Amino acid sequence: MNPEPATISQLQLSVNVSRLSPKIPTLQEKMLRKFLRYLLLLLLIAAIAFFVFAPGYIDRNFNKVTLKISNPHKVTWYDSIPFIADLHCDALLWDRNNLKKHSYGHVDIPRMQEANMAFQVFTIVSKTPRGINIEHNDDKTDQIALLSFAQLRSPKDWFSVKSRALHQCEALYKTARKSGGAFRVISSQAALQQFISERNSNKQLTAGMLGIEGAHCLNDDVSNLQAFYDAGVRYIGLTHFFDNAWGGSAHGINKGGLTEKGKSLIRKMDSLHMLIDLAHASPQTIDDIFALTQSPVLISHTGVKGICDNTRNLSDAHLAEIGRRNGLVGIGLWETAVCGTDAAATAKNIRYVADKIGVDKVALGSDFDGATTTHFDVTGLPLLVDALLKEGFIREEIYKIMGGNVRDFFLRNLPAK
Ligand SMILES: [Zn+2]
Repeated sequence: MNPEPATISQLQLSVNVSRLSPKIPTLQEKMLRKFLRYLLLLLLIAAIAFFVFAPGYIDRNFNKVTLKISNPHKVTWYDSIPFIADLHCDALLWDRNNLKKHSYGHVDIPRMQEANMAFQVFTIVSKTPRGINIEHNDDKTDQIALLSFAQLRSPKDWFSVKSRALHQCEALYKTARKSGGAFRVISSQAALQQFISERNSNKQLTAGMLGIEGAHCLNDDVSNLQAFYDAGVRYIGLTHFFDNAWGGSAHGINKGGLTEKGKSLIRKMDSLHMLIDLAHASPQTIDDIFALTQSPVLISHTGVKGICDNTRNLSDAHLAEIGRRNGLVGIGLWETAVCGTDAAATAKNIRYVADKIGVDKVALGSDFDGATTTHFDVTGLPLLVDALLKEGFIREEIYKIMGGNVRDFFLRNLPAK
């Protein structure tokens, strides 16, 4: 007996037969497969739509204006204002080409040119909490992580606040490189002086400087300051909406003062000539900064309690100390800062600061593109000039408020080279 060959060929035959005759799917199985294919397609379309449209949708809905204007009234000498400047905008947070004019948001290079604006500080926002408010926030949630994901930024940016912040710095240099000379980034007195002299013969030239809104992006490590100095950051607000390793926020849970780490950060900033922005700091943090250093300070975007009393605004005592140090107060263009939704409200806060500490120490701190509804976008600035005239300021004083003071403050206080 030799049964083996017969057994193998029987087996092969059986395998071949089963390959040739697959199990016929039932009607339900066919329908299920069809359903899954459609579902996959739908998910793919939804994902593409999300990544294409969500960043623009968020930008449009977070950065609105009270007044949409196309041709604002302009005093005859508006375009002769030598240097219009603003201390604070968050345009780098959004997925925008700032070399193109946009019909939404608040500031981009073509709109700066249209508004005769010379200089804008671009500030870096790297983490904001869910349910953001001006009274109490903790640091447990991170809305910018979601935004970074929706904007398809590098996966590193989804998780690292430092990476996000440095990428925003780089984005400003990229804008400069692609601008064909129309826009530059300034980080020293010499560069600012050069820009001023070139702009005297070409009013289309624009410039920006980098600032930080919330030093949590240093990852609680003083040694990370150098990377941001090297990236061109020239002022830092220690806290944003929550208390952090450096100090208390006006909108945090404890609202404490400077920590020991915070003190070492201020000393290091002083040694590098990096300026301190008091915006969003708790009153105790501001007191502690004044006790620690004699440096001139600025508050980049605020209102004053004397006109608009709330937790984010500046007290008379702090205002007086900023004045004594020859510092600078940037007044905002949005309702929470100035308790009003028009240029008149901003002009009233400016008048208050000028009367208290002098017209040489007040400036614009719009908070353009800071997830706020501003009175108007940058092209509406002529309306602010009208409102300042109504407040009784004369032309030379308006030159200072609209930007001359910012120019002079940075000419005095930026690193020399
Ligand atoms: Zn802010």
